Amino acid sequence: IMAALLGAQFGEMRRRLRARKRELEGALDRIQELANRDSLTGLYNRRYAQELIDHHVHLKDRNHRPLAMALIDLDHFKRVNDEHGHAMGDRVLQAFAQQARQVTRDADIVARWGGEEFLIVMPETSAEGAALLLDRLREALATVCVSEDVPTLRILFSAGIAEHGPGESSDQTLHRADLALYQAKSAGRHRSVLATV
Ligand code: GH3
Ligand code: MG
Ligand code: MG
Repeated sequence: IMAALLGAQFGEMRRRLRARKRELEGALDRIQELANRDSLTGLYNRRYAQELIDHHVHLKDRNHRPLAMALIDLDHFKRVNDEHGHAMGDRVLQAFAQQARQVTRDADIVARWGGEEFLIVMPETSAEGAALLLDRLREALATVCVSEDVPTLRILFSAGIAEHGPGESSDQTLHRADLALYQAKSAGRHRSVLATV
């Protein structure tokens, strides 16, 4: 009888431990997901995006498929904050993120790279293909009304686009995209510039 009782107790204990383990695993997944995302926009944060990019660059070294990266910076964003307040600035960032997710594919990486800077990485996509996607994003943003109180507020951005080159590190590709972004700004903003190889 003693042995039967002990056995039943151990069985119950094992069941509870298994349930506890599942709960912990679920919590860990949720924490992981939170740690990988930017809290304002829900997009991937820079650290996690960097991990994903390096993975894609590694893949690309083997399959030799094109891989495009676009660095995006909102135009005159400081004015939004100055003229309409920081909360409106935050809403602009959220609205941009929502449209960026909408026009991209599931395989694309959309990340908040810094304050009002975003990165979109497009596997299986050439620089020209990336430029078309950004045109679609501009069209989508043109129809967005961030606030009924400021119906004239439009979200415009400049972008630098670079295609990952053979043997290049992700940092090198991103650096070329950054130079192209700078050119887009100095050429008058609200445009995309393709990086030189
Ligand atoms: P440019 O067209 O040259 O990019 O001009 P800009 O005004 O967009 O650029 P600038 O770098 O001068 O200003 C960026 C502003 O973005 C300054 C900063 O206060 C604001 N910013 C950064 N992060 C956030 C944020 O999370 N929320 C809000 N509301 N503003 C932010
Ligand atoms: Mg900026
Ligand atoms: Mg800006």
